[in-house]
Amino acid sequence: MIPINILFVNRKEENIVTLKTLLKCNDIGMFFSKSSNDALKLIWEKQIAIVLVDDETPEINSFELAAILQSNPRTRDILIVFLSSWAKETNPQFFKVDNCNVHYLSKPLDHPITLTKVESLIQLARHNADIKQKEEELYNLAIVLNNAAEIVCITDARNYQIKFVNAAVEKILGYSQLESPGRSITDFAIEEQRIDLRIKLAGIVKDKLAYSVFEFEFARYNKSQVWVECRVAYQNKTLLFNISDITQQKNYQDQQIRSKETAERGKKVKENFLANMSHELRTPVNGIIGLTNLLRKTPLNEQQNSMIDMLEVSSQSLLGVINDILDMAKIEAGKFNIIRSSNNLHDLLRSLYGLLKFKADENNIEFLLEIAPDVPVHLMVDSLRLNQVLMNLLSNAIKFTERGYVKLDVSVLEKNGDQVQLKFTVEDSGIGIPENRLSAVFDSFEQAEEDTASKYGGTGLGLAIVKKLVELKGGQLSVASEQGKGSTFSFTNWYATADRPKEKSAFKTEKTLEPFENVKLLVAEDNLVNQFMLSKMLKDWDIEVEMVDNGQKVIEKLLLNHYDLILMDTHMPEMNGYQAAKAIRNNFSDPKRNIPIISLSAASFDYEQEQALVSGMNDVLSKPFQPHELHRKIKKLLKAGDMIKSLV
Ligand code: ADP
Repeated sequence: MIPINILFVNRKEENIVTLKTLLKCNDIGMFFSKSSNDALKLIWEKQIAIVLVDDETPEINSFELAAILQSNPRTRDILIVFLSSWAKETNPQFFKVDNCNVHYLSKPLDHPITLTKVESLIQLARHNADIKQKEEELYNLAIVLNNAAEIVCITDARNYQIKFVNAAVEKILGYSQLESPGRSITDFAIEEQRIDLRIKLAGIVKDKLAYSVFEFEFARYNKSQVWVECRVAYQNKTLLFNISDITQQKNYQDQQIRSKETAERGKKVKENFLANMSHELRTPVNGIIGLTNLLRKTPLNEQQNSMIDMLEVSSQSLLGVINDILDMAKIEAGKFNIIRSSNNLHDLLRSLYGLLKFKADENNIEFLLEIAPDVPVHLMVDSLRLNQVLMNLLSNAIKFTERGYVKLDVSVLEKNGDQVQLKFTVEDSGIGIPENRLSAVFDSFEQAEEDTASKYGGTGLGLAIVKKLVELKGGQLSVASEQGKGSTFSFTNWYATADRPKEKSAFKTEKTLEPFENVKLLVAEDNLVNQFMLSKMLKDWDIEVEMVDNGQKVIEKLLLNHYDLILMDTHMPEMNGYQAAKAIRNNFSDPKRNIPIISLSAASFDYEQEQALVSGMNDVLSKPFQPHELHRKIKKLLKAGDMIKSLV
């Protein structure tokens, strides 16, 4: 309850005691004063609600006091009670101050009457204080409402006519706040959406929804459009709206969607570019490597033989650079997969050692391999990629070491169930790397010194790829180096231990591959050098070959002739290999529909290989390939027993 303070202006203080006893209220504050000044001071300080003035107080002119109180807005609402021995009607002064806040009690005071009067005045004072408090709250709310950034609007629920709207309607929609009442809120929607808005609001009214949110397009007074979020509540035949401008947010969302689409388009373009580049770069290398292989089988003198050797080294190193660039691009496009399978790690390390040992011997440096005894033999590793990483680090170490040693050390850091954390360390006593270049050597196309390329060759891509490959499976690559003393590159990674891998069928690497008997192949290849190389290679195996240079011609040939197998390039003009394979699988009838097809492509992305299989091809061979790989795949797909001449 609101506490009420009463001031008693009287000659004798004892009178207040009587009144106090009569009122018996705890939440009533009683004050007493003998003089006008004192009374005014108390009124000001104590928030007095009721003043009882005895007109027989000599120092006080009670009417003057009442006039002062009534003239000040802060004290105007104070209830004043004159205690007078004069009859109210006979005192002309009284009428000067008479209003609904001024009351009268005649003396001598009758206790019950006094009590009833004071009690009703207390009620009245409380009521007034309550109203005042509510008024203040309303006043504050009105300020908040008027300053609100969003439109607050009240409409009739039957015809959506605006009863009230705040000033934000001017800022957001450009309509005058004063002229808006009477309009239908649906008039604010853009013309094409007005009916929709009506339907929406009708639904809210029908279901008496206490809360509903939706987005709409409104039209400003100047006809420009604005996106708004409407929060609507139905309440007692009225609709209460909070409408905020979300145009910026919408534009931002649209922009985000557009940039995402652009980024995705860009990514697609980049992927296509990479796929084409991969094809365009590998196809000629395939031709060079293939022709080198063929040339080697022709009668050659010593000089020609050494030229063939050089040709092979050059084409292999060109292929290495192309692969590095494509690997980097694939990693950056997030298209690089590490595929782990059960492998003999010790064998892998030893064969790597064997491969590089002769190079170290050539450079007169010691090459050491140390595998700690607790390193498990069989582990789940991507042997191709682990080989690539170690090959890179070891080749660098050998390349940048003129004397001393290079050492590969493999140890176990930690074990956890079937998981083991290995540390691979490649240490050398070579030229080392200047301290300020240590982190730069991991960046693409960066080398330690400006003259590194001219002295040692290289593209500066190897370590960047190694770092990314190591990190793809959560590993870490680090380097410590001292110029003139040597470098140590090491990386750690977790691997799962594995069962002994299934023995791979022993692959014969004999120089002469078995000829085939009565086999006719259709080859689709648009590169002339590769056409020549393939046709020569296949003819060497006694295969009859017909050559076409696009997918459309494959279809035409197959309609007319019988073939045992098709070798199909994927990227070809007019109709590519995927389309041709699909057309054969869908439009031909048996047995041509089931003719074995090997995709022979310079594609380097896994998804392209998948695409080849999805389009109906039976197997995939990436260019450049080794002749024995192609031979094996053809053999596997044909009914080998019938078609291969026995050599015995
Ligand atoms: P590349 O060897 O093709 O130049 P890398 O990315 O493999 O590219 O190496 C980047 C650079 O890091 C090298 O050019 C060389 O300057 C420096 N570097 C790498 N390994 C070693 C090492 N073992 N000793 C000294 N310098 C090295």
